[in-house]
Amino acid sequence: MAEFQCYQCNTKVKTGEKFTFTKKGSVHFDCFISERRREVPLEKQEKLRVFSIILDLELQLLLGHLSIKDIPEDTKEAARLKYKDIEKACGETTRLISEL
Ligand SMILES: [Zn+2]
Repeated sequence: MAEFQCYQCNTKVKTGEKFTFTKKGSVHFDCFISERRREVPLEKQEKLRVFSIILDLELQLLLGHLSIKDIPEDTKEAARLKYKDIEKACGETTRLISEL
């Protein structure tokens, strides 16, 4: 896995840790949500709570995908596309959270 640095806590993102990408760069899931909790106005905190649960689930799914071993050659492309789908969903949820 490529190495990323979290722009919030300035530590390297380790393999198996949940992280996402925003306009500011790569960020741990936990660091991103704490940042947004501080910034998002009170009336939108409930939305933030729901989106953060969704993003957490999507990121877990993404990490789960990475743990699939010994994918047959003729299945690799389909598996890659499924991974891309989840990655896209994570990106969309991250955007929703960023725009709150
Ligand atoms: Zn961090």
